[in-house]
Amino acid sequence: MNIEEARGRIAAAQRIVALTGSGISAESGIPTFRGPGGLWRNFRPEDLATPQAFRRDPQLVWEWYDWRRSLIAQANPNAGHIALAELEQRTPSFTLVTQNVDGLHARAGSVNVVRLHGDIWTLRCTRCERSWEDMRASLDPLPPICECGAMARPGVVWFGEPLPTREWNIAAQASHQSEVFLIIGTSAVVQPAASLAGVAQDAGAIVIEVNAAQTEISDWVDCHLEGNASEILPLLLAP
Ligand code: NAD
Repeated sequence: MNIEEARGRIAAAQRIVALTGSGISAESGIPTFRGPGGLWRNFRPEDLATPQAFRRDPQLVWEWYDWRRSLIAQANPNAGHIALAELEQRTPSFTLVTQNVDGLHARAGSVNVVRLHGDIWTLRCTRCERSWEDMRASLDPLPPICECGAMARPGVVWFGEPLPTREWNIAAQASHQSEVFLIIGTSAVVQPAASLAGVAQDAGAIVIEVNAAQTEISDWVDCHLEGNASEILPLLLAP
């Protein structure tokens, strides 16, 4: 299927799901985990975004999150985020499922956003489980402390942790019911999020992938559009 056909199917669809990964925010200046700029002080993100890393050295993990929070605080939504917010406005049922923790979809105007991996601006107590929002780019003290006296952790889902049940159920149900499933800027190796594309296709949806490169799912999607999300999405989603 070419981009013209894909655009027609999107325009005619009543129910659309878009699943986004870190690639959609790359052009806003937020590095992906595996792409250029992903390393921090020579640590790989996969070695920092884990419960084991946090238990071993919470100070180090929090310094990394402080760096990421300051990058995100300076970033703005790009044309890809904005195109998705506009698509939501004109689609009867639209669900945006994101693996991103940066909050740029909401800032672009998306409303029905399902955050599978949490939110970098949320902190959660490691003892009493209280969670709260803190929008400061630089936290002091670091690690931050809950009012109960215990250390807080970032309110995100780390590698090896389960996804939040409520968000996952909403995402799975919307994918199952979708007519068009867009998968954008995700390497499709972080499961189970990437399996949603298979759920959608098995239930009859067409799957359209937008990615700067080939991925593990490019061979079986109905339409693979290669390039930057901020350029392709405005072309694909134009009314
Ligand atoms: P990933 O780093 O594995 O893959 C990023 C994908 O985006 C790659 O397939 C790459 O080809 C593609 N890409 C890069 N630039 C692009 C562009 N301009 N346009 C289109 N595609 C582009 O990231 P992932 O699959 O999202 O998984 C890593 C996990 O890390 C995520 O689940 C997320 O929770 C977390 N993460 C979030 C952020 C964020 O919130 N912005 C940033 C980094 C990592």
